[in-house]
Amino acid sequence: MAKPVVAIVGRPNVGKSTLFNRITGARVAIVENIPGVTRDRLYRDADWRGREFTLVDTGGITSLNEEDTMTAQVKRQAELAIEEADVILFLVDAREGLNPDDEAIADILRRTDKPVILVANKVENFENPPIYDFYALGLGDPLPVSAAHGLNIGDLLDRLVENLPALEPEVYGEDAVKIAVVGRPNVGKSSLVNCFLGRERVIVSEIPGTTRDAVDTVFHFNGREYVLIDTAGIRRKARISEATERYSVIRSLRAIDRSDVVLVVLDAVEGVTEQDKRIAGYAHEAGKAAVIVVNKWDLVEKDGKTMNRYEEAIRRELSFMDYAPTIYVSALTKQRVFKIIELVNRVAEQAARRIPTSTLNQIIDEATHLNPPPSDKGRRLKIFYATQAGIKPPRFILFVNDPDLFHFSYRRYLENQLREAFGFEGTPIGLVIRKKE
Ligand code: GDP
Ligand code: GDP
Repeated sequence: MAKPVVAIVGRPNVGKSTLFNRITGARVAIVENIPGVTRDRLYRDADWRGREFTLVDTGGITSLNEEDTMTAQVKRQAELAIEEADVILFLVDAREGLNPDDEAIADILRRTDKPVILVANKVENFENPPIYDFYALGLGDPLPVSAAHGLNIGDLLDRLVENLPALEPEVYGEDAVKIAVVGRPNVGKSSLVNCFLGRERVIVSEIPGTTRDAVDTVFHFNGREYVLIDTAGIRRKARISEATERYSVIRSLRAIDRSDVVLVVLDAVEGVTEQDKRIAGYAHEAGKAAVIVVNKWDLVEKDGKTMNRYEEAIRRELSFMDYAPTIYVSALTKQRVFKIIELVNRVAEQAARRIPTSTLNQIIDEATHLNPPPSDKGRRLKIFYATQAGIKPPRFILFVNDPDLFHFSYRRYLENQLREAFGFEGTPIGLVIRKKE
């Protein structure tokens, strides 16, 4: 189920990212050692007293319009928070006192009926905290904290959790395949979703998420259950504003995190753009199985080599995702659209595959005989044994004599050998190298 979203807003330098890091703590990446695009941590999951939520640092969301004044930017971030979040943490700087930008943000936040918690940061002395100016913002009692020193953060989290929306139960089975449909605006996401949902024999039900606007849609197809993650975000034909654009990026990231399979939708006419790369990169970094869907294929003038040319361009532009199958479809004519589901099944199965330890070690053995491990300064890398540590994506731990000898090229080699032996179509795989004590 969608986790509730908590947004931190405030003008620059009040301590938003310090508070963000304080609350979320350092987390281990889901996928270790998969090289690829670095993921901006705009948002991260956290929990307090058993309640989970997603924290968003709106300060990390930079303006698309460079010419914006600071005030315009912070106002936009406040609007974004109102639209996106279930609870808003409004951060002000108690050392500097009240600032006109604080007032501009407060003007916007006073208009929402969502809970707003006014947090006065940089209070290190609680005897007589300088927070009284902030009552003028009309958002209730300022809660003094020090993000940098971790003071009063427990009280803040208590207040936050009290304001989270009530939990709702899961209403689909554990085996349901969760699909995130992502891509730039106008590539045809909603058209594709409507193809899936508009078909006879597809039984559709909408599940309101815990997050106010997130709607997951369950459908059944050929006897299997699927969940389209956050179809509300996709289907809403909203006000085309910059806020909406950024909003859809955050939504896409959250949808990716909750999914089993990501459909990376591209526009055949426009080819692979920078934003497509970024979105695909998030799916890769999150360790999700993926299918690359080239939509609007009906608009492309084709000769015998067209598909090959597209294939080459995609492999070049999205080289980090070379494992993902591609499919060329038209949501308009419905050409091949239902083949997407076949691919979804295939990659979901691969991502959940478990390889018996003996088979795995046999393949590693053969691979090391075929191409012996590298040596450095007279020491040769030795791989003692391997074991599968997890699925979705498949992750393997290799116990070796000296992890420093395990170079990138050898990692690539072993990954390729594993793929040759086991396929793993559509899913990233992870190799974790450990020293055998
Ligand atoms: P942001 O721009 O709102 O994300 O602010 P940052 O988190 O980058 O913090 C801005 C500055 O304020 C940094 O130099 C922080 O070290 C400092 N800062 C953040 N929280 C505190 C605090 O609780 N006390 C003090 N004294 N400084 C803080
Ligand atoms: P979204 O913003 O990604 O959800 O994109 P939409 O589904 O709203 O589609 C954007 C525009 O592209 C609409 O005008 C659609 O009618 C059109 N469109 C979507 N899929 C196709 C397709 O396969 N072929 C053609 N020719 N147009 C399409």
